[in-house]
Amino acid sequence: MKQYFSETKSETKQFFAFQWHITDECDQRCKHCYIFSGDACKKLDSMSWAQMEDTFYNCLDFCEVYGRLPYFYLTGGDPILHHDFWRLLALFKEQCVPFTIMGNPFHLNDQVCRKMKYYGCEKYQLSLDGLKETHDWFRKPGSFDCTIEKIGCINQSGMRNLRRK
Ligand code: SF4
Repeated sequence: MKQYFSETKSETKQFFAFQWHITDECDQRCKHCYIFSGDACKKLDSMSWAQMEDTFYNCLDFCEVYGRLPYFYLTGGDPILHHDFWRLLALFKEQCVPFTIMGNPFHLNDQVCRKMKYYGCEKYQLSLDGLKETHDWFRKPGSFDCTIEKIGCINQSGMRNLRRK
């Protein structure tokens, strides 16, 4: 089986990163969100499993052709809300492809973070838009405190946490 983890860096191949939006589903309606900027009541869309498999293997083929190592940034929406989220993570693990998740804090706990780490998730990126008042105004009440609280779960699991402003 082909290995895509960092051991293969000795081949001197560079990573090619894909930012992959798998679902519009999200527990927030941030004021700056591009998904809901046109229509806050839009019907939410998610990729089917067949579309996800197609996309995944297309990206791997692309990297094969151009001599790169694949790296994925999984996003949405909140990617964990996709009905095939864990199935997709199992595919990453099966193919030994490294990835980061860019998501919300709401569905994280110690067990969930450990499971993400088990499937090969290297980093979990949370968003902070400023201090509590600013952040919660952009996102929703309680979002700031929840974000800060869940950093502990991410760190405990061994994943790295990233905070984006
Ligand atoms: S958390 Fe992200 S996807 Fe959800 S509404 Fe906010 S910006 Fe949009």
